Amino acid sequence: MKRKDFIKTGGLIIVSSLMGKCQKSGKIEKGFEAKQGSLKVSTAIYELQLRQAWTLSRGTWNTRRNVLVRLEKDGIVAYGESAPIPRYNESAESNQEFIRRAIPVLEKDLWEYQDRWRELEALAPGQNAAKAALDMAILDWVGKSLKVPLYRFFGLSPDKTLPTTFSIGIDTVEVMQKTALSAPAFRRLKIKAGVADDKKHIEGIREVTDRPLVVDANEGWKDRQQALEMINWMAEHGVEFVEQPMPADNLQDHRWLKERVKIPIMADESVHKIQDVPALASAFHGINVKLMKCGGLQEALRLAAVARAHGLKLMIGCMIESSLAIAAATTLTPLFDYADLDGNILINNDPFRGLTLAGDRWLLADKPGLGVEPVIPAW
Ligand SMILES: [Mg+2]
Repeated sequence: MKRKDFIKTGGLIIVSSLMGKCQKSGKIEKGFEAKQGSLKVSTAIYELQLRQAWTLSRGTWNTRRNVLVRLEKDGIVAYGESAPIPRYNESAESNQEFIRRAIPVLEKDLWEYQDRWRELEALAPGQNAAKAALDMAILDWVGKSLKVPLYRFFGLSPDKTLPTTFSIGIDTVEVMQKTALSAPAFRRLKIKAGVADDKKHIEGIREVTDRPLVVDANEGWKDRQQALEMINWMAEHGVEFVEQPMPADNLQDHRWLKERVKIPIMADESVHKIQDVPALASAFHGINVKLMKCGGLQEALRLAAVARAHGLKLMIGCMIESSLAIAAATTLTPLFDYADLDGNILINNDPFRGLTLAGDRWLLADKPGLGVEPVIPAW
């Protein structure tokens, strides 16, 4: 911790000290239950409570409703989670409806998980968070059936998981400063931007910390001149890269920007599936892969390979999620350059346990599958 950070942390809550302690339980709405032979699938909508209001350039939230999936087959119980993304016309209800429609796919052989993913993808367009939940549950089932942790199954080292950034939502300068100081263990902070006060926010953060920053504009800057001026200003304020400066479908202006910016720009809202990557390679320096956006671990692995083939930097991110989905994404971090996996730190009622924060790195459990188990009543 730098001296500047240390001096101002007195009396503030240290985020990492809260992990795993004082966790409350959230509202659970039971969904559906389906039984067929040795298969049993049940869902619930679980309300995640944010520690503080979460503001991005497109809205403010105090709670998020995620869907939890329990998949039992041949006596093995596995779990999946969806964090529906309203930006892509998803809700907990629409995700749950997709999962109900996917039951015939889950009745088939889960060992052939690649075929199952293709069938889920073909079932309906979109609803990628629901696809991610099912892909997660299927792979958790495969790992548990083999009695190996999923990182072992993928051939990845638990010692090489990346540190995560800690995200600071848009707020008053004072609140953003306090939030930065509440998380001294995180060596890199991610600042949400894309609003009129962006410079004021960055200057405020810079008054209290020298740590490297990354900035996420969430499509908030509407024209390329403004975006260029903001990004190059940020380059001079210790910002390492900027995520999604302008609206997702405006690749032409991102191409213009890429030729002129002093620090890399990363695509987030512009990238979903592997088919998106070739066109993005000329417009961005890297991509942010999220399980909920691409449809799960299998597609995230393919995205990483295709992005590397196009010379792109790789970041893995998240939505507001519990330790279940964060454990899944953490498993893949050895393949990436940056990780932004703090969704479960921003909530105070994590329904899963098994993932441990050591400084700013998640430690994956040496347990089969995803290595996390629910701490809430069965659904
Ligand atoms: Mg982003």
